[in-house]
Amino acid sequence: MDSEFDLVTLGAGSGGVAASRRAAALGARVAIVEGRRVGGTCVLRGCVPKKLLMYAAGYADAFGEARGYGWQLDGEPRFDMAHWAAAKAAETARLEGVYRRLLGESGVEIVEGQGTIEAPGVVAVGGRRLRARRILVATGAAPVTDSIPGIEACATSDDLLDLRALPARAAVLGGGYIAAEFAAMLARLGVAVTMCYRAEQPLRGFDAMLREAAAEALAAAGVELLAGRVPRALSRIDGGLRLEFDGGDAARDFPWVLNATGRRPNSAGLGLATRQGGGVIVDDELRTSVPGVWAIGDVTDRHNLTPVAIAEGRALADSLFGPAPRRVDLSRVASAVFMIPPLASVGPSEEQALATGRKLKIFETAFRPMRTAFIGGAERTRMKLIVDAADDRVLAAHMAGADAPEIIQGLAVALSAGARKADFDRTLAMHPTAAEEFVLLREVSRVVGGGGGSSSAA
Ligand code: NDP
Repeated sequence: MDSEFDLVTLGAGSGGVAASRRAAALGARVAIVEGRRVGGTCVLRGCVPKKLLMYAAGYADAFGEARGYGWQLDGEPRFDMAHWAAAKAAETARLEGVYRRLLGESGVEIVEGQGTIEAPGVVAVGGRRLRARRILVATGAAPVTDSIPGIEACATSDDLLDLRALPARAAVLGGGYIAAEFAAMLARLGVAVTMCYRAEQPLRGFDAMLREAAAEALAAAGVELLAGRVPRALSRIDGGLRLEFDGGDAARDFPWVLNATGRRPNSAGLGLATRQGGGVIVDDELRTSVPGVWAIGDVTDRHNLTPVAIAEGRALADSLFGPAPRRVDLSRVASAVFMIPPLASVGPSEEQALATGRKLKIFETAFRPMRTAFIGGAERTRMKLIVDAADDRVLAAHMAGADAPEIIQGLAVALSAGARKADFDRTLAMHPTAAEEFVLLREVSRVVGGGGGSSSAA
């Protein structure tokens, strides 16, 4: 059976759904093809269930703090992963229902099954052929399973979020977003965690202050950090996995190991030109190498973040079916790592900003937050502003500490509007908050770059 559409989208994740709904709202006949559940990684296997597990893990600290504030809690609280998993399954099913309803109400036809691009303008799904002058690839990414020999035997974050019981001990391989977030959570949920990553600090690409804060926070949560040490190979043993290291380090056995060594675009078999690593190559207008085929989101492996995929999807639909073409500005993408406490950033790291040749004023502060200082906690909140010395413009804001993603999201608006340090300075503080420290930073910590050396002004 053949059907005619204006747009056929492959992949009903955040990006594909956003693009399809916007295109339909602009009058296009749209079909969206999905081989798994509607909702994609973010809603079903990523951001949403991950954050729900982070909320669960956060109670571990809250119980301890509550005692310091005078609460009498009898007995040791215990976490029931089966309870959480059932509640999570119900919530993701509800959200899938919402996505299906929104697509239906927008007039988008959901076609269940694995779609392949059979020829220009033709998508095959099972026995059905969908014809469209425009095809959008929004197929996302999946965990890498060949980064280390034997790693295919490990669990992935998808598996973790479906566990009914947690292991007593676990190794986490990798030092990126997923590794840092899940190591922090598992440690709170009572798992003895060992984290192995190949760099000196986790979270490559983030500002050095945040990377150091991440390592400190993980260590403070009891995570054993094996920096610069990843296994050469893994092998199955009775009751778990053996991690074999180079350089005479003893092998280590774990009952459960999380593979968090990255994700790979779902681009195989689409017939599109890809970069090394599988990212579909797109131009500024999100066109692939094949006429009539566009791509957005994680399958293009550029900024692998849900809001980017959604923004690209909507801009593309506007460009294809709206009155005027539109592009998304990806020059300042804010992001957060939902550790405990979390990290968040908008703008370049100090290292990246320095590489532009600019002279920079760096404003930094670190303090013990009121909530935990009250009970004698050692937790420290850190903040940094990177300011262009030439025109006083704030290039970046970085924070490690409670509520960092909420605070940085607000500052991202100021930075998008081109805020200068003087604008921060004339903003009155809201007291007592942690966020107020961002408008109270008066002393320059360092002046760096611009051809000169580093000078300490504080
Ligand atoms: P990342 O790319 O963030 O991290 C991958 C990690 O695996 C890095 O530490 C990398 O080391 C390491 N690694 C890669 N290959 C090997 C290898 N052969 N041996 C040892 N270590 C290896 O990927 P994630 O899987 O953590 O997350 C995927 C993407 O999903 C992220 O890039 C992010 O865009 C998105 N995401 C966003 C979240 C958020 O916004 N909060 C949360 C989770 C995911 P090295 O750094 O040395 O290369």
